[in-house]
Amino acid sequence: PYTGPSAEEILKKRQEFLSPAIFHFYKNPLNLVDGKMQYLFDDKGRRYLDAFGGIATVCCGHCHPDVVDAIVKQANKLQHSTVLYLNHAIADFAEALASKFPGDLKVVFFTNSGTEANELALMMARLYTGCQDIISLRNAYHGNAAGTMGATAQSNYKFNVVQAGVHHALNPDQYRGVFGSDGPKYARDVEEIIAYGTSGHVAAFISEAIQGVGGILELAPGYLPAVYSTIKKAGGLCIADEVQSGFARTGSHFWGFEAHGVVPDIVTMAKGIGNGIPIGAVVTTPEIANVLTRRNYFNTFGGNPLCTAAGLANLKVIEKENLQHNALTVGSYLKERLASLQDNYEIIGDVRGRGLLLGVELVKDRQLKTPAKVETLHIMEEMKEMGVLIGKGGFYGNVFRITPPLCFKKEDADFLVDVMDHVISKM
Ligand code: PMP
Repeated sequence: PYTGPSAEEILKKRQEFLSPAIFHFYKNPLNLVDGKMQYLFDDKGRRYLDAFGGIATVCCGHCHPDVVDAIVKQANKLQHSTVLYLNHAIADFAEALASKFPGDLKVVFFTNSGTEANELALMMARLYTGCQDIISLRNAYHGNAAGTMGATAQSNYKFNVVQAGVHHALNPDQYRGVFGSDGPKYARDVEEIIAYGTSGHVAAFISEAIQGVGGILELAPGYLPAVYSTIKKAGGLCIADEVQSGFARTGSHFWGFEAHGVVPDIVTMAKGIGNGIPIGAVVTTPEIANVLTRRNYFNTFGGNPLCTAAGLANLKVIEKENLQHNALTVGSYLKERLASLQDNYEIIGDVRGRGLLLGVELVKDRQLKTPAKVETLHIMEEMKEMGVLIGKGGFYGNVFRITPPLCFKKEDADFLVDVMDHVISKM
């Protein structure tokens, strides 16, 4: 049994020694001690089904033995900066990662986080095009440093610091957006931003294929192809932020952008890439990558042996255990079951997403779509009491985010929906 500090003791230390801005889920926050595949265990030995760990970076499963083994082996051998000396871990992982991309996307830069990956992508686009203007989508989340906070477009994540050079386009939101699922209609807004808000040339367009923090919103069909062609005409690059939608999570494809039939110029990733180990990456073409030779780009730990060994092991597990197929079959089943809950409860306004990247939006009124924020928190809290962890998000904080590790099983999906059903039925 666990003999470490109690939740109260940890909370007290957090309050005294950590940032006052740090926050936690749940009225009585969980003190997590162990993780195993799709399960988490607290200090009292209670088991929880983890249906949110995917977003907090766990891809193939908590403490997957293959990934743990790779980390331990590498930690016992060597851990160092990757920049100045040779080591095979970074090269092996770069090669494996490049093999997952279409076309000329084969040059990899490793970073330590998604924010850093997006910062680098935005900078490369600006250098390559000689333009400054970036277009991102309203409701997007791309990171919390100066450039990426600029590209992020939700007031609750934007501090009052300089974030110049970004235009925020109409979000092709199929649930709340004015044009419904008509992607090309939303895409006209990007044409107008370029025509009225820029010199006519732009550096880049950046977007997720499915907005994660924004509430699991899949961009309306036809949107990305139209915008990519508009951006190309304006001399810009298209950046796909795959921090949440990448690494087989959407089931139908390995990358979220593939479902839209587009090929980006730059792809960024983090979270799922390392199965819980901090690592991010930018993948682009040799021609675009070349801009960084103009100066020194130095990143002490980007691509260090330990993180890249973990990344390679994670990628091998995804392939060996056929986790993309699992995300597709279990995810589709889970989505169907959630959709049938929607038939029973007025409060469920929308069920959406792909694979194991699913969202459930709660509204007080299906016509007005008034966000049911308090109810969302209540259900999340009660589900935790019954042993199921889900996330929440969306601009109004009224969307459940269901993003389990990719080893999630059909029985897990049943348990999750049964628990949700029970909690809502008691309200
Ligand atoms: N892009 C997306 C789509 C994200 O969801 C996030 C993190 N929520 C980031 C970028 C930033 O990643 P990190 O927190 O690793 O900096």
